Amino acid sequence: MGKNNQPYIGRFAPSPSGPLHFGSLVAALASYFDARAYDGEWLVRMEDIDPPREPPGAADLILQALDLYGLHWDRDVLFQSGRQEAYNDALAALRHEQKLYPCTCTRKKLAGLNGVYPGYCRNVWQDAIPTQPHGLRLLCQDMTIHFADRIQGAQSYKLTDLGDFLLKRKDGLYAYQLAVCVDDCFQGVTHIVRGVDLLDSTPRQLYLQSQLAMEHPVYAHIPVVTLSDGNKLSKQNHAPAIPLDNPRPTLIRAFRALGLDPAPELQACSISEILAWGVRHWSLDNLMGRKERLLTSID
Ligand code: GLU
Ligand code: ZN
Repeated sequence: MGKNNQPYIGRFAPSPSGPLHFGSLVAALASYFDARAYDGEWLVRMEDIDPPREPPGAADLILQALDLYGLHWDRDVLFQSGRQEAYNDALAALRHEQKLYPCTCTRKKLAGLNGVYPGYCRNVWQDAIPTQPHGLRLLCQDMTIHFADRIQGAQSYKLTDLGDFLLKRKDGLYAYQLAVCVDDCFQGVTHIVRGVDLLDSTPRQLYLQSQLAMEHPVYAHIPVVTLSDGNKLSKQNHAPAIPLDNPRPTLIRAFRALGLDPAPELQACSISEILAWGVRHWSLDNLMGRKERLLTSID
């Protein structure tokens, strides 16, 4: 139970496609501060549903880094690799209600569409199941999804601009959108704090939650950290792993990326004192409406 008996369950949900880098540390800290500031629970969920993109040992390295940075989670870590059955059950429920359809489109056919699927296979298969490899897409109604983001403000997205999205990929892997909704619901997550790069996933998730009769969490999308060359810090851009030997300077820099401005003396304190300072001073005010936060250097 969070502050004033308001339930608060937050989470950090990294994909183990590499070790924790500065951008993901900032996302972890934001969700941690928000949960702790509300006296809520803070969970860690390992989104390991894409084995070809997961170097061996990356999940352990992420957990080790969180631990060394003093970010101690509640309950056990939930690994999505063990949740196949729940994802299948959700797909079966959607199929039963005819909200899913098979898609056999090739990558080539979908090239140049910017990830917005125009519904080619919508009425092709009817009740038949194709014998060739196929993905499964959610049939999206022609409607607009509105939500109030705690940082980015009022948002509206037309589902037709996003397209019928994949819930299961042609290679048999479950899609992020499906797994994230099933598990946020399973874990009772009430508040999601994550990077603004996921803002346009939120209308998809809100829609999928309503199709599965799930509660909607409240969302806050924090600005992403960009370097002076304007590039988002990410594994794709080969952002370096955060150092494990001396967390404090990196922790303080991550505070700055979140609009917190501690006095230099804080760096001399223990990690738990540094984090406690962050929880006490946590506020979304300095982040309001911002999509990116420019850092001149990460080291
Ligand atoms: N696993 C996703 C990622 O690392 C984040 C999921 C989420 O916070 O919803 O980008
Ligand atoms: Zn198709």
